[in-house]
Amino acid sequence: MSIVKLARAEIQALSAYHAAAQVDDTVRLNANESPVDSAVGNFRRPLNRYPEVRPQWLQDALAARFGCKGDQLLVTRGSSEAIDLIIRTFCSAGRDNIVMPSPSFSMYRHYALIQGAGVIDVATSAEHDFEVDVDTLVNACDDATRIVFICSPNNPTGTRVPRADLIRLIKAREKQSAVVVDEAYIEFGSEASIIELLQDHPNLIVLRTLSKALGFAGARCGTVTAAAELIDLFSAVQAPYALATPVVECIEDLMRSDQLTRAEQAVEEIVVERNRITAAIAAYDFVLKVWPSDANFFLIRVSNAEQVMNRCKQHKVLLRHFGGELADCIRITVGSQADNERLLNALSSLTGKPYE
Ligand code: PMP
Repeated sequence: MSIVKLARAEIQALSAYHAAAQVDDTVRLNANESPVDSAVGNFRRPLNRYPEVRPQWLQDALAARFGCKGDQLLVTRGSSEAIDLIIRTFCSAGRDNIVMPSPSFSMYRHYALIQGAGVIDVATSAEHDFEVDVDTLVNACDDATRIVFICSPNNPTGTRVPRADLIRLIKAREKQSAVVVDEAYIEFGSEASIIELLQDHPNLIVLRTLSKALGFAGARCGTVTAAAELIDLFSAVQAPYALATPVVECIEDLMRSDQLTRAEQAVEEIVVERNRITAAIAAYDFVLKVWPSDANFFLIRVSNAEQVMNRCKQHKVLLRHFGGELADCIRITVGSQADNERLLNALSSLTGKPYE
């Protein structure tokens, strides 16, 4: 059975919005646009005209970068939008559900709840280093499970799911659900993207973002890659003209510039910094555990979470404390060398020994 048949019947019946034709050197009286360009900003396209309904050049350039075909990728407003599109495509309200390990990125649950879909949490434990057990995950799925979300490297733990486990999960759910692998932080680890396996697994969906390693969080741009027939469904659910002209041109410039090389260098520096500061932080007596991380952040367990948060805040350093099952844990994003020095200064002030 084709994976498309698992999508909501109403969505299968839709097709993507067909925009009014956009042909150069023609008089455009087909889209109810204004004929007057405000000439605000320094854009190559006039802002009085609609952008491309789905920006083709960007789609092809990002597909080439991420290693898939152009028709296997949809450009989205951050990967956040992609999560929403996938859930709305597969999950009927009041009937279907998603399965996800916990703790993981909170927006899978958030968008599922908005859609009226159920959420089946599969707890992982700090004691087992948040290891995701594929059999437990598969056993947690029921007849109404349409999507399994896996974040690797995982936010907020920084841990990754080994490739062999991912493949086992994708195969185990081959006929029953989509498996979404969220690779928002993949560039900070040593594992290759699973996008290269797209061809072999029609139920595999991969999320990438330009917000982390590429440093473009402000542009709100991400991608969903999957079998072309699924991309058609996501395109039908996405708002037409989702990517605004300023954003499209900004990302085009990024793709054509040396910014990508600079971003790759920045990733290397962040990894060096991550290794340096995790080692330094592990030495503090109030730090009980530092989990190894494949991301641009890492999770620590401390004996005094509130005190650490407050002290860092006094030093104008903000960290992330989640509470609940992670009440004694803190997530720390790796910053620039200067940012990290400020962090180490703040933390060492808790030990009574000034940081040198
Ligand atoms: N996935 C994960 C795991 C994330 O941590 C984030 C952002 N925190 C996103 C997706 C969404 O990122 P964006 O919408 O900026 O692409």
